[in-house]
Amino acid sequence: MELSKGGPGWAGAGDCRKGEGSRPIHTALSCRMDSFEDRLRQLREAFHTGRTRPAEFRAAQLQGLSRFLRDNKQQLQEALAQDLRKSAFESEVSEIAISQAEVDLALRNLRSWMKDEKVSKNLATQLDSAFIRKEPFGLVLIIVPWNYPLNLTLVPLVGAIAAGNCVVLKPSETSKAIEKILAEVLPRYLDQSCFAVVLGGPQETSKLLEHRFDHIFFTGNAYVGKIVMAAAAKHLTPITLELGGKNPCYVDDDCDPQTVANRVAWFRCFNAGQTCVAPDYILCSQEMQERLVPALQNAITRFYGDNPQTSPSLGRIINQKHFKRLQGLLGCGRVAIGGQSDESDLYIAPTVLVDVQETEPVMQEEIFGPILPMVTVRSLDEAIDFINRREKPLALYAFSKRSQVIKQVLARTSSGGFCGNDGFMHMTLSSLPFGGVGSSGMGRYHGKFSFDTFSNQRACLLRSPRMEKINDLRYPPYSRRNLRVLLVAMEERSCSCTLL
Ligand code: NAD
Repeated sequence: MELSKGGPGWAGAGDCRKGEGSRPIHTALSCRMDSFEDRLRQLREAFHTGRTRPAEFRAAQLQGLSRFLRDNKQQLQEALAQDLRKSAFESEVSEIAISQAEVDLALRNLRSWMKDEKVSKNLATQLDSAFIRKEPFGLVLIIVPWNYPLNLTLVPLVGAIAAGNCVVLKPSETSKAIEKILAEVLPRYLDQSCFAVVLGGPQETSKLLEHRFDHIFFTGNAYVGKIVMAAAAKHLTPITLELGGKNPCYVDDDCDPQTVANRVAWFRCFNAGQTCVAPDYILCSQEMQERLVPALQNAITRFYGDNPQTSPSLGRIINQKHFKRLQGLLGCGRVAIGGQSDESDLYIAPTVLVDVQETEPVMQEEIFGPILPMVTVRSLDEAIDFINRREKPLALYAFSKRSQVIKQVLARTSSGGFCGNDGFMHMTLSSLPFGGVGSSGMGRYHGKFSFDTFSNQRACLLRSPRMEKINDLRYPPYSRRNLRVLLVAMEERSCSCTLL
């Protein structure tokens, strides 16, 4: 089965498939641009029937996701290998198992997350019921990039389903093998009247964004993030933006270089460096740079052998465009390790660049490849100034044996996430919110935070229709005495007072 080419397509029940002689077959749903309107209306109508609201429906969809992951594990691994030459190990750790864990967590906690949350009351509302109702937004759009094309589709989808929404998924057209599975296989595991997959690139996504959604969840680069935000603004649609940037990694002089090198090299080269939270550059003293370079060489050789191109553990760059961009960065600073590239294989060697200047291109843009520049600083203060002169990063790393140093970096900087003495391990905890700040994004997800992101927290107060006499205080004609009593009654108390 082929996906539609050139135009947008609704996958699943309404596949725009190529028929014999490449004539498109228009099945239940049309593939023309104006078909978005009809399909979105159907999804919205499905939401208004209330079908997605019961816990049983949500659980059934989540179980569907679980079955999708189990039944198609091998196919998914092969697709990830095809798109990014991702090893089975990295696919399992960063795409399949992590998605499965999110599904399991949501299934275990669904009913407690959905429960109304009782809140404290004031004297005037002591006899009433005050609570936060977590209600679904309605129809939400999830736009996905190519670097973790399964994880970044399913993890937000789990939150959207758990919160009771209807969903339009827009996978990345760049990671084609996964896009194909998400379009052809995933819909079979979900109620297709409530969930749809849209295919296409920037042109089709722009068309889709002309329509009104109740929430848009976008993961990708900041440039497209601005386009999405501008489109959302037209409908005042709330958005979550999961963007990227440059994640600093400060290394203190007291560190054991080999420990730091192992940890940084692995996180930098994981998925061939195409990770939004990867340590993007090292900040350290000249002396530490000299100790780190041989340690990094040691780590890279241990992980990927003398010729990393032959290692099955190292992924590849997604496409020619990104390969060329990365190749251009290899000319910055001085190559201390690696530096090789092979366009026919989309291979960039794990590379360390030393004596890099702040003004060079490798320090101006997000690297998104297995290249690690090192910038030298004279002190911790200088490192912190360097970090604070730049946009707030998605993640920040600090290595030191002294907890005081780690605490200082944490206290005097800002970022979406922070990890002391390691790479992006903080994001393996679904108990921590994941997201950026400033130019690295807005909004949070993972675990319960995903559920909250896709829920409207409705403020509810249910009052008694009786005891109208008490309300006399608030009605005109106003008096100073009534005002005094009313102000006391409106003060929030922690004790439960039953005077009124
Ligand atoms: P991408 O090119 O696949 O684009 C992301 C999505 O936006 C795709 O679905 C694409 O079709 C759509 N798109 C692209 N151009 C568009 C346009 N002009 N109008 C409307 N839609 C458009 O992926 P990418 O942006 O190259 O992904 C890499 C970036 O994503 C990096 O900056 C990385 O740091 C960031 N990222 C962030 C996170 C996070 O969780 N914060 C995770 C992964 C990647």
